[in-house]
Amino acid sequence: MEKKNLDWANLGFGYMKADYRFVSNFKNGAWDEGVLTDDDKVVITECAGVLHYCQSCFEGLKAYTTEDGHVVTFRPDLNAKRMEDSCRRLEMPVFPAERFVEAVVETVKANLAWVPPYGSGATLYIRPYMFGSSAVIGVKPAEEYQFRILVTPVGPYFKGGAKPITIRVTDYDRAAPHGTGHIKAGLNYAMSLYPIMDAHRQGYAENMYLDSATRTKVEETGGANFIFITKDGKLVTPKSDSILPSITRRSLLHVAEHYLGMEVEEREVLLSEVSDFAEAGLCGTAAVISPIGKIVDHGKDICLPSGMENMGPVLTKLYDTLTGIQMGRIEAPEGWIKKIA
Ligand SMILES: *Cc1c(COP(=O)(O)O)cnc(C)c1O
Repeated sequence: MEKKNLDWANLGFGYMKADYRFVSNFKNGAWDEGVLTDDDKVVITECAGVLHYCQSCFEGLKAYTTEDGHVVTFRPDLNAKRMEDSCRRLEMPVFPAERFVEAVVETVKANLAWVPPYGSGATLYIRPYMFGSSAVIGVKPAEEYQFRILVTPVGPYFKGGAKPITIRVTDYDRAAPHGTGHIKAGLNYAMSLYPIMDAHRQGYAENMYLDSATRTKVEETGGANFIFITKDGKLVTPKSDSILPSITRRSLLHVAEHYLGMEVEEREVLLSEVSDFAEAGLCGTAAVISPIGKIVDHGKDICLPSGMENMGPVLTKLYDTLTGIQMGRIEAPEGWIKKIA
């Protein structure tokens, strides 16, 4: 298989149309077989449920070329499971987990020419998503749905290494206590766009959202979970029912405990204790870990001791270990790596 002639080392984080995508339709109460197609266009009625009542959810994962030349993906079963949870909460039909993983494998296989080579820093981003495709005018779930998987090669999230970012504590909320914060619903992103653009206009990279009930506890940003390192080297991550359960965060907890011998704690984290931490970072599939240098809370600067120059030493070890597992340099826990080619 011949790779596409792309400047792999200089790819951005954007959409590029690859050769094939997977499409399956839900009709009369059942999913069809699904096909790989070269048609990137979606044709739906003007009255489709997704267009009016935002019935849609999505997932995000990556395929990597490993050191020994295989193409693998990372814990796709957890994306499958999480999408099932999203679908149930949005009254959408579940796309069965085994079929989800199979479809991810088939879609990547069909697009092997688009998987960036080992060492380029780039990866193949995989985006499974589902939406209500049939007409709905009264408020109710659609009767028909489409499940698709698209792939696109992406460069490293941070070119030239991860520089610590400055974020702000925001007065906006991303999730209500018994709302949809724990599922990957498109609607969670729609309403975070104004706060993130506002943050950018004020010179901040991200928003730190607090729990909307008491505004005292750290939740997450618009698209990444927080991890903190205490001065005595413990990993602490916020626990809340309205946080999206990041697969990267769950994997980092395991790596911290079982590879690095660290203590890990998933518990409520008060905003007032953040100034006591030694290191802070954001985690998610796109960047793995983004280090935080400074958190601005209504004009008051909380500066992390790890500083504004580099990722702190403990987060660096976590980052190196997890990316080592993903790229096949470090042995993975049982079942984490799904070999595709
Ligand atoms: C997708 C997402 C994350 C990161 O999850 P990963 O599985 O690690 O990619 C974190 N927060 C929100 C709100 C998300 O949508």
